[in-house]
Amino acid sequence: RKAEEHGVDAINTDIGWHEAQVPTIVTSVPRGAFVKFTERLRDEVSIPLIAANRINTAEFAEEILTNGRVDAIQMARPFLADPHLANKAREGRADEINTCIGCNQACLDHAFVGKKVSCLVNPRAGRETTLILSPTRKAKRVAVVGAGPAGLSAAVSSAERGHKVTLFEGGKSIGGQFSIAARIPGKEEFNETIRYFTRKLEVLGVDVRLNTRVDADTLIAEKFDDVIVATGVVPRIPSFPGVDHPMAMSYADAVLGHREIGKRVAVIGAGGIGFDISEFLTTDESPTLNLKEWEQEWGVTDDPEKPGFVTKPRPLPPVRQVYMVQRKSGKQGKSLGKTTGWVHRATMKMKGVEQISGATYDKIDDQGLHLSFRDDEGNVTETRVLEVDNVVICAGQESVRDLIDPLTLAGVTTHVIGGADYAGELDAKRAIRQGTEVAAGID
Ligand code: FAD
Ligand code: NAP
Ligand code: SF4
Repeated sequence: RKAEEHGVDAINTDIGWHEAQVPTIVTSVPRGAFVKFTERLRDEVSIPLIAANRINTAEFAEEILTNGRVDAIQMARPFLADPHLANKAREGRADEINTCIGCNQACLDHAFVGKKVSCLVNPRAGRETTLILSPTRKAKRVAVVGAGPAGLSAAVSSAERGHKVTLFEGGKSIGGQFSIAARIPGKEEFNETIRYFTRKLEVLGVDVRLNTRVDADTLIAEKFDDVIVATGVVPRIPSFPGVDHPMAMSYADAVLGHREIGKRVAVIGAGGIGFDISEFLTTDESPTLNLKEWEQEWGVTDDPEKPGFVTKPRPLPPVRQVYMVQRKSGKQGKSLGKTTGWVHRATMKMKGVEQISGATYDKIDDQGLHLSFRDDEGNVTETRVLEVDNVVICAGQESVRDLIDPLTLAGVTTHVIGGADYAGELDAKRAIRQGTEVAAGID
């Protein structure tokens, strides 16, 4: 009210910050979670109100304007993801918008370490004048092998330039490891990237061959001008006694529902995927899809008596007892994103996940996962058995590179990107960037 009295023209409620005790902008925040707090101001002031935070699609923005009590919508990251958002929406092409997934990986996480701000789903953001997808003078026949993020971005960017693209995918749908990620509670937004690529492949007339695990002989026989190998990664299975015990499975098998999972589970590996899997195992319904439950989990309340509308968090109890184990000593989750890691770490605490560091994996047997702990000289100082029903392995990935040598030996112009190029420190940001860069260079 004071602001209005002092002549302020409008109020924009862009709320919170990444260190706030309640997450406000990350992927797992339900869309539009804070719009109602902007709407409350309608009873107090008559100047225009602008809602913000996790409003990432044109349809959702329109819905808020139609049904809500705010006058405008603020978006920032969605314009990094797609600078043509407004025009596409106006032209009835909203299904072609590349949607911000709230990951912060190439925008805020870069800003805070002095790196150039860009976007995971749109690597041309911030590089518009150097990473150029100019129309090609000579349309080439390009094969892309693998429809994970790397292959999708290479196929779409090559086709945008005018090349004639065939995309081979061994699975029954596109997405690769990214579609496993999309099944993690709180990562539902990742489906928007798959939706975007699906539509772009259609609009650009890419010949998509699903259920086609292509081999080198076929690629050589079809005489493509260029082959882009984007065959990605498979989960790494470490070698120690009992790792092939029926209770053990890869993270992919766990998420894809290939195996029953019991009530007590040990997770091997505490990288990004270990954290995601622990979240998957402790939750049966995603709070991101249920605003009331999410508010309860983080202590957001409608009660105006509570300062900042924040009260004591009351998370739902975990649906499984989970132990997350790593070999390194020290605190887990150091490799997680600067602006998002704290949310994952807080969730593990809420869900009572026991985090065990500095362990050696001795064996898996019917009793469970046997661990030992050693001093600096390598002497065993402690042993422990985690009596679990299952062990889920999240010990990194290995590249799939079987096509590279035969193609190269046959003299085929071959480019290797994403996880197939290098599995270490792989994420979708690098995969999509490499896909766009390789396409920009095919002449
Ligand atoms: P992949 O995704 O592995 O795709 C390769 C594709 O090639 C597969 O579809 C495969 O079927 C196909 N293929 C292989 N060989 C052939 C062949 N011969 N013929 C035809 N097709 C073939 N990354 C992030 O940046 N942020 C995250 O928050 C994030 N969360 C994740 C959570 C989980 C649970 C998981 C599993 C991954 C997550 N990732 C995340 C990682 C991200 O998904 C990967 O880095 C990315 O998918 C790698 O892309 P890629 O295209 O190189 O390989
Ligand atoms: P990662 O972060 O490299 O973690 C791999 C884990 O496996 C580590 O905890 C490692 O810890 C353990 N490990 C490695 N080799 C092992 C072995 N031989 N035996 C047992 N344990 C082993 O990789 P990731 O979790 O697989 O994730 C893959 C990529 O996806 C990451 O680069 C990440 O950026 C991306 N991702 C990102 C997010 C996100 O939220 N931004 C989420 C998920 C995934 P020890 O060596 O200490 O045991
Ligand atoms: Fe959105 Fe992630 Fe791109 Fe940032 S990097 S604009 S959060 S999709």
